Amino acid sequence: MPELAELPGVGSARIISREEHSISRKDISPNALKVLSRLSKAGFHGFLVGGGVRDLLLGKKPKDFDVATNATPEEVKNLFRNSRIIGRRFRIVHVRFGREIIEVTTFRGAPETHITVKDKSTRRNLKNVNAAQNEDGLMVRDNVYGRIDEDAKRRDFTINALYYTTEGFKLLDFCNAISDLKGCQIRMIGDPQERYREDPVRMLRALRFSAKLSFRISDETAAPVESLSDLLSGISPARLFDELIKLFSSGYSQSAYKLLRKSGLKNALLAPTFLALEQCQPEETRLLELAFSNTDARIALEKSVTPYFLFAALLWPPLRLTMRQTGCKLLDSSPRFLDLANKALAEQSQFTSIPKRIGYACREIWELQGRLTARDRQTVDATLNHPRFRAAYDFLLLREAAGEELGDSGEWWTVYQFGDDTQRKELIEDLPRAIRRRRRKPRAAKNKS
Ligand code: ATP
Ligand code: MG
Repeated sequence: MPELAELPGVGSARIISREEHSISRKDISPNALKVLSRLSKAGFHGFLVGGGVRDLLLGKKPKDFDVATNATPEEVKNLFRNSRIIGRRFRIVHVRFGREIIEVTTFRGAPETHITVKDKSTRRNLKNVNAAQNEDGLMVRDNVYGRIDEDAKRRDFTINALYYTTEGFKLLDFCNAISDLKGCQIRMIGDPQERYREDPVRMLRALRFSAKLSFRISDETAAPVESLSDLLSGISPARLFDELIKLFSSGYSQSAYKLLRKSGLKNALLAPTFLALEQCQPEETRLLELAFSNTDARIALEKSVTPYFLFAALLWPPLRLTMRQTGCKLLDSSPRFLDLANKALAEQSQFTSIPKRIGYACREIWELQGRLTARDRQTVDATLNHPRFRAAYDFLLLREAAGEELGDSGEWWTVYQFGDDTQRKELIEDLPRAIRRRRRKPRAAKNKS
């Protein structure tokens, strides 16, 4: 087994012994421990790092466990049958244990000479280049391996750069992370402006950790955000979609929303929503707030939340605004409404991607609102059996709770779906009968031959 003291770069860390910290092995995923142990047996050093260590020190349950090592991705891959190398900008190894994935990254070094990449076609020729930035300073490739102390400096915030080793169960702190953890502070490692330019998503990450941990963002770390927020337009909509989902479906969406609303980042991520909120009705703002409080409550109960429900709520204010502006009153399957729904989705897609199946389901939630409020005798059961009924019903309840007057449709559907046959029959009987239209006789064909 390798000696910790022999690992290059360890010397500059403050070592925190087992007695001085609160991390206990039993709180660590057995699979993460397996990865550490196998690396060590093969002569490599492996450390838990990132959110796992941070959350354990704060007494929270980590979402996942990340491992950093001095083994290269290929060496890691050779050690674990259940692993694969992913990523191009950062090459990392995913080691899979059933549903759990342990992410293993090789210590990143400080790239000494960066190649500046001007356009995408040059970027395609980067096969043998390990580190590169574009003209804005954005890292488009970052695969220079290095020492553990260099790896710590390449991480985003101090609180995310603590390393835990099972060798003596020590913690390694390279950047005063413990003091920031104690002071409940998010502080960028290095020069914030430069680090945001390398990767503008760090601005959203700062906001996310602030919401998640109720930590304040240090003044120097917060200062450049307003002026650099436009850099997020250079990030792929797919990556911004992932960040948006993390921000709003991890159990702290209410505070994430409050922070985002106050920050210079709101229009880089959700411009249509925030612009619409400036001129929308109180019940539309309220619906969004209620959607967040419901989401947080569901997650606290370990219930699932779906991205399409989130998008249905997030895009509700812009959808309602354009409906008002165009005089479209009904949420239904008419081409007129569908056109507005598609436009709301398309406008948001300029900021974050919206995968097709999510956009489709989100639109179905809206479309079903018309059927839920109309309660047409002929279609009640088809509506109940619609695959999106449950989500649409939840959305209807949100609208009512937000103050919309919908003729007690929510209550009606609650009784209808959970009631017995007699109750159902009564409810149907109480519905107005459709006015029967006389069927026109088919016209007799003129030229019968
Ligand atoms: P959580 O998993 O709770 O969302 P986390 O801190 O573990 O939080 P991950 O996205 O899992 O976040 O990343 C793991 C670690 O990798 C981080 O703690 C940080 O050290 C590093 N990291 C992730 N993204 C970046 C980034 N954009 N820039 C620099 N370091 C990063
Ligand atoms: Mg993590």
